[in-house]
Amino acid sequence: MTCIGPVSMRSETGVPAPRQFIPLSEPEIRGNEWEYVKECLDTGWVSSAGSFVERFERQTAEYLGARHAVATVNGTAALHVAVLVSGVSPDDEVVVPSLTFIAAVNSIRYAGAWPVFVDSEPSYFQMDPEKTIDFLDKGCRWHEGALHNKSTGRRVRGILPVHILGHPADLDPVLEAAKKYDLVVIEDATEGLGAHYGKRKVGRLGDVSCLSFNGNKLITTGGGGMLLTDNEEWASKARYLTTQAKDDPVESIHGEVGFNYRLTNLQSALGCAQLECLEEYVAKKRAIAACYSDSLGAVEGIVPMSEPDGCRSTFWMYTILVEEGRAGSRALMKHLHDGGIQTRPLWQPNHLSPAYAEIGPFACGTAERLNDMALSLPCSVGLSAEQQERVIESVIAFVADRK
Ligand SMILES: *Cc1c(COP(=O)(O)O)cnc(C)c1O
Repeated sequence: MTCIGPVSMRSETGVPAPRQFIPLSEPEIRGNEWEYVKECLDTGWVSSAGSFVERFERQTAEYLGARHAVATVNGTAALHVAVLVSGVSPDDEVVVPSLTFIAAVNSIRYAGAWPVFVDSEPSYFQMDPEKTIDFLDKGCRWHEGALHNKSTGRRVRGILPVHILGHPADLDPVLEAAKKYDLVVIEDATEGLGAHYGKRKVGRLGDVSCLSFNGNKLITTGGGGMLLTDNEEWASKARYLTTQAKDDPVESIHGEVGFNYRLTNLQSALGCAQLECLEEYVAKKRAIAACYSDSLGAVEGIVPMSEPDGCRSTFWMYTILVEEGRAGSRALMKHLHDGGIQTRPLWQPNHLSPAYAEIGPFACGTAERLNDMALSLPCSVGLSAEQQERVIESVIAFVADRK
């Protein structure tokens, strides 16, 4: 198979020009974005009021089947407010997977609470339900009507599962334990938007869920987020907190210290257009994943990404494991980079992060191994067959060389 880069574009010296760069993940903008944004510009409704904000909230809530939605300036803000409205108090603890983007963990600290890191399961890289329950059952004790962490003495108030990479986390056992111990469940559904856990949609499993529409997500508003819940009281509290806790808009009287976390009409206009394409993008991501898995499944030392039984993954970020470990995955990253192909390892597990050095220790060995082995491959919705072929060939060439 040959490379489909612009090889014919030779420079004066006859040296082939570098091949076209293949980014990890690019936004896909080919729907009604221009039309809707133009409507904002033409009417002057560009800021935090306007019909697209309400429409984006309503349509996202409808897509997921949630009663209420509150758009926010980004996903981290949605998480922060979700932690606040769900009744987590300063000095409480919230259980969260160590292997995830730091935003979810930070949102717990913003509220003055503390993360308890749990390990991942090795198959789909999600929060390990058994280890989560093990901590709740054995690492905690029920005392004066609440669950307390035996080692810190703090009250455990919630669980914040994060669906990562486009897979649903296995939450049924966790939801059952949450019920037993009266814990709130705050779902970070950002990377799981469009995924199904059995017949249920990711983002509808917990008491409140959060989304991000940053540029690298399945659908984007440039920057943006949303909080979704069936709890009317929490939704109106979230709306209040995200708009500076304003009690009287004429006299500017504020009931408490709020935040300016609103999403603009311009961004919401983008969101409405993107949402119309969501299912199509999921289908494209799944096709990209099927092609990678077919081509890389038989390659020695490479473990392709699979889908949990009975579930729908979106494969938002297609990620392989390199069995050799950290040296191998980072060497493959360099090899692909040298060929103009962008890849990325998973996040440093948060229990090892300098940002969280003051707490712990936590036993998250699987998270550490996954961080060593994993590498995400280019998987933009707009990835062409030729580009994907180039990535696959480059991985195969690396493996052949390494023998
Ligand atoms: C991107 C992301 C966030 C943060 O969203 P922002 O909009 O960038 O603040 C939170 N959680 C997960 C899982 C993410 O991937």
